[in-house]
Amino acid sequence: MLPRNQISIYFCRKFKAMKPTHIEHIGIAVRSLEESIPYYENVLGLKCYAVEEVKDQRVKTAFFMVGQTKIELLESTDPEGPIGKFIEKKGEGIHHLAFAVENLEEALSETAEKGIQLIDQKPRAGAEGLHIAFLHPKSTFGVLTEFCENKNK
Ligand code: ZN
Repeated sequence: MLPRNQISIYFCRKFKAMKPTHIEHIGIAVRSLEESIPYYENVLGLKCYAVEEVKDQRVKTAFFMVGQTKIELLESTDPEGPIGKFIEKKGEGIHHLAFAVENLEEALSETAEKGIQLIDQKPRAGAEGLHIAFLHPKSTFGVLTEFCENKNK
């Protein structure tokens, strides 16, 4: 048994974590961007500043900024794609939560070391030129979790 102060040092070291800087975005699955964008613009008063297709994920995305956090609407371009399947199973709604991290590779390896199941073993390209990777919701208490690193800043 270690003395108390040594235990806390041990835990600090062991759980040295990636420390996300903020919520980068919240991903929301919608059936139609065209139908859902007016809610965000006309009811919430946010401005859609970008619409982008991410072929890799078979989605079209629309972005709004709230403080330093984005809302990312996701419309499927393929019923067999991840968002198409999600909507089929669960309907529209919050799909994932994305944390901004300083070093994505490091964040992924630290997370894997702690026994969390990764969907992406390596960073891949996301919308807006971000490098992204997903953690499996089975390991994260039901929340599909994304890490994002912005290499352009
Ligand atoms: Zn995302």
